[in-house]
Amino acid sequence: MLFLSFLLALLISLLAWRANALSESGALAATLLGTLIFGLGGWPWAVLLLLFFFTSSALTRAGAARKSGLSEKFAKGGRRDALQVLANGGIAGLCVLAHLFWPQASWPWVGFAASLAAVNADTWATELGVLASRPPRRLTTWQIVEKGTSGGVTLEGTLSALLGAALISLFAVFVAPFPEARSPFAFSWITLTGLAGAMIDSLLGDTFQAIYYCPNCRKQTERHPRHTCGAPTFYVRGLRWLDNDIVNLLCGLSAALLGILLFLRW
Ligand SMILES: [Zn+2]
Repeated sequence: MLFLSFLLALLISLLAWRANALSESGALAATLLGTLIFGLGGWPWAVLLLLFFFTSSALTRAGAARKSGLSEKFAKGGRRDALQVLANGGIAGLCVLAHLFWPQASWPWVGFAASLAAVNADTWATELGVLASRPPRRLTTWQIVEKGTSGGVTLEGTLSALLGAALISLFAVFVAPFPEARSPFAFSWITLTGLAGAMIDSLLGDTFQAIYYCPNCRKQTERHPRHTCGAPTFYVRGLRWLDNDIVNLLCGLSAALLGILLFLRW
């Protein structure tokens, strides 16, 4: 089963690498993560991971051309590297490891689904939020900011996040390997905690995330030490270690913990 999982994960990662959705290191990390999740979890876990992977890669691709002028604001391009893959899927990987140790428990599944709902919500909000007609506002001060600014939110982006979380949640409820996780309650908790994770991501982007400035383009950016234009970027605000990957990891982690807590409590 583990070898078959490895072959499937390798095949999908190679296709994604050829389609420019993953870098070399990203394809390697995706193969490892996929092998772990397919091999230890089985098909319901694989379905959820692939649903996240394909919809978010497709949206990133669709968005890349349109917002080519904006993409320099984001730390990395459309090709996800190993750190980005682990930032998005690392918590899901930890949950499948928890499933290995507690095979009868349904909470690792709920944490898995909630973390994927959150990173999916965040990706959908980022990719579809830039389509908004009105400029984004900061979550903390409600001040209007430039499109593509870290932590800026729009109504369209928030609705996209809700849809992204609900899609993962819907599949999670239908394919759940545990009967108690196949309820409308589970659907609500996974959707809401997925949305909450994406909101935490935006909040961190607006407050503690490291933001830099490119003097050449006269723009704020998440990129460091160099901007897409090649010029060195200078620190503006935020915690230097709190980059976009760690923010994404915290997005998935907070959703998983909140989802498990709500699920066990009710
Ligand atoms: Zn620049």
